[in-house]
Amino acid sequence: MEDPLRKIPQISKILNRFAGLYPEPYVKRAAREITERYRKEIREGRRGSVEGIYEEIEKRIEELRRMSLRRVVNATGVVINTNLGRAPLPHSALALVEEIAVHYSNLEYDLRSGSRGSREAHVESYLLELTGAESALVVNNNAGAVLLVLNTLAKEREVVISRGELVEIGGSFRIPDIMRTAGALLREVGTTNRTRLSDYESAVGESTALIVKVHRSNFYMGGFTEEVSVEELAQLAERVGVPLYCDAGSGLLRDVGLGSGERTLGEYVSAGADLVSGSGDKLLGGPQAGIVVGRRDLVERLRRNPLLRALRVDKMTLAALEAVLRLHVENRLEEIPVIRMLTESEETLRRRARRLSKLLKGIAGLEVRVVKESARPGGGAFPELTLPTCCVALSHREISSEELSRRLRLSDPPVVGRLKRDTLLLDMRTVSDGELELVLRAVRKALQGE
Ligand SMILES: *Cc1c(COP(=O)(O)O)cnc(C)c1O
Repeated sequence: MEDPLRKIPQISKILNRFAGLYPEPYVKRAAREITERYRKEIREGRRGSVEGIYEEIEKRIEELRRMSLRRVVNATGVVINTNLGRAPLPHSALALVEEIAVHYSNLEYDLRSGSRGSREAHVESYLLELTGAESALVVNNNAGAVLLVLNTLAKEREVVISRGELVEIGGSFRIPDIMRTAGALLREVGTTNRTRLSDYESAVGESTALIVKVHRSNFYMGGFTEEVSVEELAQLAERVGVPLYCDAGSGLLRDVGLGSGERTLGEYVSAGADLVSGSGDKLLGGPQAGIVVGRRDLVERLRRNPLLRALRVDKMTLAALEAVLRLHVENRLEEIPVIRMLTESEETLRRRARRLSKLLKGIAGLEVRVVKESARPGGGAFPELTLPTCCVALSHREISSEELSRRLRLSDPPVVGRLKRDTLLLDMRTVSDGELELVLRAVRKALQGE
């Protein structure tokens, strides 16, 4: 019998075969990968022939041709899902992004005077209108805003902060670490669960540059706890002549009727905070950005920090942010996907779940039920809130729910749900009506051949 190793086609032969059908770099890489794999498997006795090698190569070419960054159907129910891209933008914001992205623009050009302008000026007036602050600045993200504030106002000086607020948000962002990186000296007060005004009072002194309050965002404490309000801290800050900076986290701009877990940036300002920062892509519902609002003299100092150059926002971000801020100013909140999803009624979710379950019924082996559940908004917002929601629960006669979940993730488009015991839940809070057909297509594809 002929050695199957000798039957593995030459790379040049594979290139010829796919010439004109696919771009050569993908063919080359797929050919190399698959022939190597076949060679190895034949040598190890795990494969007896080269049958199917061209099909395998073509499959790999198709994979390589797909964009790495892909649209995903978020059926996790977590509205602000950092892993899945956080806030989906309103469609209407895209028109401005495209206009600005593919053309030249007045990004840093004052059309009236014909001279250099400032890129942040495009969104500043909206932020002042929405928060009542004296001045505003936009940077790359809220982590950047925290870094800029601490580095500008507290480099080599003391920052007073409650031990209960030395939080970690999303893995790589830890308040103590960012303080150190900014060059600020941490002066912790109180304990993890209780911090009183007197704790701050006895810590604040000559060497204090800043009092900082951080929103806990991704967890909450119950039971024997105590914290000092923004109002009380603002009075103390004023009395001792030290600014108060609040990291609000979520960037909420208007009351969306979800309870008291979050204050708007404007409420921080009116409670007396000298500077407040938040994210652009959490409850603000816009692009990744860090928003800073507050006292004019302090924002001016931030503007003069050379670090700002490294934290500045891109024109596409500014375009998206301007479009979304305009929706806030005009109170068209239902057009902002994050806010719409968070406030959608149970009845709407139930109707959507019924529609999806009707579409999925009849797929062989699949059991489909509509179930009531509850979910958290996620991503550093309303940590105390769980929202009632409605899910489509899937289970399969022959396939485990883990396997079903894996296949749906690898389907086209990928669908990400959440597992609960032996079912896969597709949460309707984060799936739109327009996506139901996509879910159907993905489920069909995932179960092909079963
Ligand atoms: C999310 C969050 C951050 C980080 O914001 P990014 O925009 O993701 O950089 C910082 N502080 C708090 C309190 C947060 O909730």
